[in-house]
Amino acid sequence: MTKPPINNPKPIDDCFLHDKDRLTHQEALEILKTNITPISTAQTCATSEALNQVLAQTLTAPRPIPAHRNAAVDGYAFHHGNYDAQKGTRFKVTQRVTAGDPLLDTIAPDTAARIFTGAVMPTNLDTVVMQEDVTTQTDETGKIWVTIPGGMKPQANCRQAGEDTKQDDPLVKAGTKLKPQHIAAIASAGITQIPVYSPLKIASLSTGNEIIRDEKHFQLGKVFDSNGPMLQALAKTQNCQVQDLGIIKDDQPAIEATLLEAAKTHDVIITSGGASKGEEDHMISTLEKIGTRHMWQLAIKPGRPLCFGTIKSFGTIKNLEKPNDTLFIGLPGNPVAAFVCFILYVIPMLARLGGQTWPEPTRFKIPANFSINKKKPDRREFMRGTLVTQDGQACVKKFPKDGSGLIQSLTQADGLIEIEEDLTNLEQGQLVNFLPFSQWGL
Ligand code: AMP
Ligand code: MG
Repeated sequence: MTKPPINNPKPIDDCFLHDKDRLTHQEALEILKTNITPISTAQTCATSEALNQVLAQTLTAPRPIPAHRNAAVDGYAFHHGNYDAQKGTRFKVTQRVTAGDPLLDTIAPDTAARIFTGAVMPTNLDTVVMQEDVTTQTDETGKIWVTIPGGMKPQANCRQAGEDTKQDDPLVKAGTKLKPQHIAAIASAGITQIPVYSPLKIASLSTGNEIIRDEKHFQLGKVFDSNGPMLQALAKTQNCQVQDLGIIKDDQPAIEATLLEAAKTHDVIITSGGASKGEEDHMISTLEKIGTRHMWQLAIKPGRPLCFGTIKSFGTIKNLEKPNDTLFIGLPGNPVAAFVCFILYVIPMLARLGGQTWPEPTRFKIPANFSINKKKPDRREFMRGTLVTQDGQACVKKFPKDGSGLIQSLTQADGLIEIEEDLTNLEQGQLVNFLPFSQWGL
């Protein structure tokens, strides 16, 4: 079977393809982008509890924000039409207006009001001078006079109603993952309950006869499970509800039983290991038996065996607690490959399934402080990179070793260096794509 054209992506249903027939990074993303739609349902949440939730409906301002014209500084409010902008003006201070205690009447336009930050502007005054810029005097009758120097512009230091958001304008758009600043915008409109998408239910499991968690099982050949805790932590950064299904042996019936059980109650099952073509790899054959495999084998490094499919929730499974098919994501066993695949493919998938728009990663062009000689063409590589300063200029350093089992390459990195398919040689100082981990909250 040949590669699908990029503008008409189709699932590739063939295994063990030669390198050149593997899906490219872009092709894989196109397929995922085209096929994945939100599955979460909306629920109500208190605005104050909505951090990292995804807004299910665009919210508009029910009234202008700020709702009232008010003073931006502590000072004196006056009517600019009664003020000499060349020479300055002396006003009698006839009122005092504090925040939360508005003046209901107008004041004589040739007089000023003592005013404080946030206080509603008296209706017929339009300009505020800072208290630091004036001099005041008290006359023999005890009245206060304020001398305002020249140079004040009309409406200075006065916040207009609606200057932040006009009535009926959008406050935050549907599909936004809510950050503290979005919560501030919603709260500023007095909205205390909001519709958000329910978090995705994720099941995570590790596979491999050599994989253990408990130190008392440690012996020759055993490997501690780093993928399970890592993938669960990654899913939690995406606001998912994660259930740990532990470690399953390289045993087809055991894998099948676990996947079928997990599919009853989870939106997505994420596994690591056993997704290659070895005789002890049972993930793909099990998925083909109980569901549909949509693609695997990518022309990327690290992370070649990535499997994505669905497990039918109808027919084979009774007593369903959910209506959708369950999405299956089989990640490579090597921890670095699993991590890289998670951030490149799984994060956008989870974002979209959970109601967000498909997020595109941010790439910066940074000079490389390394060179590359004869990289394989037709394969995209994601190296681990650290930002460093050399001769006063920011550049990116590559982790010296390539192994996809080297977890230190992740802990010491600031992000991924992306070497595209057609880039086979790179000279020191040449610009490379750098994808910082911080954009994923990592
Ligand atoms: P596999 O994809 O099952 O062929 O595994 C590839 C490599 O990743 C092997 O060296 C495994 O021991 C290692 N590996 C698989 N699963 C895990 C895991 N959960 N934690 C750490 N290493 C793993
Ligand atoms: Mg294995």
